[in-house]
Amino acid sequence: MAEQEYLTVKEALSAVLAGVSVLGEEVVALPEALGRVLTRAVVAQDNMPPFSNSSMDGYALRAVDIEGANGDNPVSLRVIADIAAGSSPTETVTEGTAARIMTGAPLPRGADAVIPVEDTNEPWRDAERPLPEQIEIRRSVKVGDYVRHPGEDMVVGQEVLPAGYVIRPQEIGVLASLGVAQVPVVKRPKVGILATGDELIPVEEPLRPGKIRNSNGYTQAAQVRAMGAIAVELGVAADTEADVLEKLVAGLTAGGDLFISSAGVSVGAYDVVKAVLEAEGNVGFWRVRMRPGKPLAFGTFKGIPYLGLPGNPVSAMVSFERFARPAILKMSGRMDLERPTVQVVMQEEIHSDGRESYIRAVVKREGEGYTAVTTGGQGSHMMTSLVKANALVVIPEGVKYVTPGELLQALMIDWPEGVF
Ligand code: AMP
Ligand code: MG
Repeated sequence: MAEQEYLTVKEALSAVLAGVSVLGEEVVALPEALGRVLTRAVVAQDNMPPFSNSSMDGYALRAVDIEGANGDNPVSLRVIADIAAGSSPTETVTEGTAARIMTGAPLPRGADAVIPVEDTNEPWRDAERPLPEQIEIRRSVKVGDYVRHPGEDMVVGQEVLPAGYVIRPQEIGVLASLGVAQVPVVKRPKVGILATGDELIPVEEPLRPGKIRNSNGYTQAAQVRAMGAIAVELGVAADTEADVLEKLVAGLTAGGDLFISSAGVSVGAYDVVKAVLEAEGNVGFWRVRMRPGKPLAFGTFKGIPYLGLPGNPVSAMVSFERFARPAILKMSGRMDLERPTVQVVMQEEIHSDGRESYIRAVVKREGEGYTAVTTGGQGSHMMTSLVKANALVVIPEGVKYVTPGELLQALMIDWPEGVF
C-alpha cells in the first residue's frame, strides 16, 4: 500500500495545480477561436471605424447651412449625390447642398453632419425611391451629429485585447473587424479518460450478474468536452496491470496531455493503478478531507500528469469539479479556475461529518438573495441527486450541523441556467 497522505481540499488542489502547466500555442482559424485563450496581445492594425461614416439613413450636409431650421422654417438644400454603404463618394458637399446617405456609408467631402431622414420631407425606406432634387430640412444639427469618426472605437497601434484574454463571441467580432483571420491561442488540452474495474461493461451491453455499466468514463469525457477540452476515450481497463498499462499507452500515443481515471484509488481496492504508476512514473495516494470523494491519486505516467478519481460516480464527478476542472482550465491558459459562487440561505438542516462537504442542491433566486435545498439522497452512488442539482453547497471543514436559515457558499455548476 502506498503511503496515505491526509490533505485538505485546498492543499490537494494546490498540489494538482502545481503539477500541470499551461499548454503551448497554436494558430487557429478565427471561427475556431471561440472559448480559447489568446497567447498574444491583439494590436489594432486599422482604425475602427476606418473612415467617417453616417450613423443614420439621412442627408449629409454642412451643419451651418441648416442653422435655425425648424418645422415652421424649413431649409431647402439641393441634393447632389446618393451615397450607398460600400461606395466611395467623389462629390463634395458645398454651401446649400446635401447628399443622401445610408447608415455606414462614407461621409462625402465637405459635409460635417448628417440629418436623419425622419427630420426631412423625404423619408425613404427603400433603395428604389428616386433621389429628390431638393430636400426640406426641419431642424438643425451640430457639427459631427450622426457621424461616426475614424478610430472612435479602436485606433491603429492600440492594444485591443491583452494576452490571456478568453475569446467570446464579441471578441470574435472585434478580431474579424480588425482582419485577424488566424488567431494565436493556447492549445486545447487532450485528456485521456480511463475507467477501471472488472465489474464494468460498455453502455451497449445488457446487465449481467455482478456487472454495472461504465458511467464514469462517459461522465468525465462529457465534463472534459463541456469545458472546451478534447476527451480521448480510453475505454475500460480490467483490474490488471497489463490492461491499465495498455490503455494508458494508447492515451500517450493519442497525444494525451493529462490522464484522468476513475476507481481503484481507495484503500483496499484491488489496486493496479498504483502498481502501474509506480513502475512508469510516480504517484501520491491522498485522502482528501472532503465528502463525497475522499480518495484521490495524483502523479505522472511517463511524464504526463495523472489524476485518479474515486470510483463512485458522484465522488468522481465532484472530485472532477474540484480538481480536474481547475487543472484543465489552467492547462487551457485560463486565469479564473473556479466556478462562480453565491451565498445561499440553506432551507434545511444538514448533518455532516466534519469533512468539507459538497451537498448537491438546487439554488434559486429569491428576492434579493439565493436559497438552497438539497436534492435528496446524498449517497455517493446516487446519480439522480446530481441530475437535479445546479449547485454544490459547501459545508466548511469542522462543521457537523447546519441549521435551517444558515448562510453557506454554493458552487454554481450551472450558471446562470436553473437560477434565473
Ligand atoms: P472502487 O474505487 O474501485 O472501489 O470503486 C468504487 C465504486 O465505484 C464501486 O461501487 C464501483 O463499482 C463503482 N465504479 C467504479 N468505476 C465505475 C464506473 N466507471 N462507472 C460506474 N461506477 C463505477
Ligand atoms: Mg474497482
